[in-house]
Amino acid sequence: MVFSVAIDGPAGAGKSTAAKQLSAMFDAIYLDTGAMYRTVALAAIKRGIDTQDGIALEKMIETIDIDVRFTGNGQEIYLDGENVNGQIRTPEVSLGASHVAVFPPIRHKMVEQQRKIAAKNNVVMDGRDIGTYVLKDAKYKFFLVASVEIRAQRRYKELYGKSTEADLESIIKDIEFRDENDSSRKMSPLKQAEDAILIDTTNISIQEMVDEIAGYINDA
Ligand code: C5P
Repeated sequence: MVFSVAIDGPAGAGKSTAAKQLSAMFDAIYLDTGAMYRTVALAAIKRGIDTQDGIALEKMIETIDIDVRFTGNGQEIYLDGENVNGQIRTPEVSLGASHVAVFPPIRHKMVEQQRKIAAKNNVVMDGRDIGTYVLKDAKYKFFLVASVEIRAQRRYKELYGKSTEADLESIIKDIEFRDENDSSRKMSPLKQAEDAILIDTTNISIQEMVDEIAGYINDA
């Protein structure tokens, strides 16, 4: 029997850092579902489609192929056969991902793929709606939060590490926009599942966060 760990929360709360380490500890694959919405946004941008045009996106989603592969280096995401890992972390794609993620036809397509992966593998999956919708029956569910300031600082370091042009102010704006947009959409808004464990990562180290989550999994 396979098991799933669902980790949700807003951008920069520590989800991917936690998910990566936990997947290694518990012999599971790590699925970053945000990368899938980012790839849909990238596909739209490449085709000159407005990321807020639901009708055009609904047509587009039937014509593109998004493939997630798990390698020794973690997750690799392919758009129509091209590895796009290096293209999906720009501020433009972040904003576009939040735009495309409001449309139900896009979400249905992504969720179908996510559930297929979870049916076959032990998985640590992070996103916004994993505990509330994608894997409602996940054995373990966590909801990570942190202050906007600390989340922006983390994202800033991450982006500079990847040499993307960015400044703290614009990152705070991006995060605030996405928090609001992701929490207010009709389908699967960002929300803590009733049975998810809330973890505030504002004032704790990565190690403390991982130890806390792993502790809950080990005790279950
Ligand atoms: O997690 P990440 O910041 O990469 O996600 C990018 C965007 O994709 C989010 O702002 C959100 O709008 C969307 N998303 C989503 N549901 C998920 C994962 C991401 O709506 N499960």
